[in-house]
Amino acid sequence: MTETQTLPRTSAEMSTDIRCCRCCSAPLQNVAVDLGLIPLCENIVPVEKLNQGEVFYPLRAFVCDTCWLIQVHDLVSGEEIYSHYAYFSSYSDSWLKHSRQYCDMIVDRLGLDEKSQVIEIASNDGYMLKNFKAKGVPAFGVEPAANVAQVAIDQGLDCIVRFFGVETAKAIVASGKKADLLLGNNVIGHVPDLNDFVAGMKILLAEQGTITIEIPHAINLIQQNQFDTIYQEHYSYFLLTAMRNVLNRHGLTLFDFDVIPTHGGSLRFYAKHDDDHTREVHPRVDEMEQYEISQGMTDLQTYRDYGRNVMEVKWNLLEFLIGARREGKSVAAYGAPGKAATLLNYCGIREDLIQYTVDRNKMKQDTFLVGTLIPIYAPEMIDQTKPDYIVILPWNLKDEIMVQLSHARHWGAKFVVPIPKLEIL
Ligand SMILES: [Zn+2]
Repeated sequence: MTETQTLPRTSAEMSTDIRCCRCCSAPLQNVAVDLGLIPLCENIVPVEKLNQGEVFYPLRAFVCDTCWLIQVHDLVSGEEIYSHYAYFSSYSDSWLKHSRQYCDMIVDRLGLDEKSQVIEIASNDGYMLKNFKAKGVPAFGVEPAANVAQVAIDQGLDCIVRFFGVETAKAIVASGKKADLLLGNNVIGHVPDLNDFVAGMKILLAEQGTITIEIPHAINLIQQNQFDTIYQEHYSYFLLTAMRNVLNRHGLTLFDFDVIPTHGGSLRFYAKHDDDHTREVHPRVDEMEQYEISQGMTDLQTYRDYGRNVMEVKWNLLEFLIGARREGKSVAAYGAPGKAATLLNYCGIREDLIQYTVDRNKMKQDTFLVGTLIPIYAPEMIDQTKPDYIVILPWNLKDEIMVQLSHARHWGAKFVVPIPKLEIL
């Protein structure tokens, strides 16, 4: 049978019968990619759970052909996800540097001072709040993961432990505070009730306040094969076109953006109230929308081709790993980011192909990756075992990691980067 013949509907296609778009409620009929069954990516498996089962959820990305939001179904509640959340922003040097640079830029651009109010949604371990505190700009955070928020509170930073949405925004406004700067880095994609979240931002924003939202640009998800950034806890993936649509629904105007290198290529959006006429919409906003259209981002054929490209990444990585192991080479990995769970589970890579990985986050050390049960050790394990190949799982940090591990060249180790396409460096 050739692929030009008519095939029966796939399980992913059949699953579209039961859901609507999270943003605009249009029927969600178009599958971008089906990554199979995968456990929650931000979890880790401790040794005492090695003999227990794990829950796997179907992981499929869809695209709405009305508002162009790329999305996965919210099969798991936020409460379930954040009860064991183990992501601490401060473990990445490049992320800390990025955050300092953002703080310097935005304080200068908006003229923030000791009379301003900054509110950060998903303030994590205080990695960003501390920069504002150092500049004397009042700032507090809203963070749903209690164990992560506690790290910020222990440093004397101001933080409330809550999920963000309309109710939280109303409670903060009732306490007499509104945001001159309301920032959310890499959070809006992680909220199941997108409209409630954006409606909350509208409520909390001061009359002439500014919202900044940093998120990976979904054009890279498609064009750079960044399918491993798709996971259960990451519900929505935004083009500028889609971000503009959701902000418009809530009386907010996207008036500018910056292109930034984080997470494999991100956009930092600037938004204001529709009736705030103190700032014009920059012409580059329309230009980017036109660029996305010119790149096929509002053409369903682009998404049909995407599934095939993702499969190529899988087949190339598996061919390399099987070849290396047949030659008797040892293969380790570096990093245990959430995206590793998607990549390794989708590809079916277990200890026979990658013997272990390492991570600087002590909470992850001496545990196991979800689904594949590949062990996670401290980075020193690489020096002890001297593997022939080191697969860099957080490929967005590959330059930083290759510098950290440059001494591995002395024993002839090579680095393997699987995405956007397989590279042996
Ligand atoms: Zn939609």
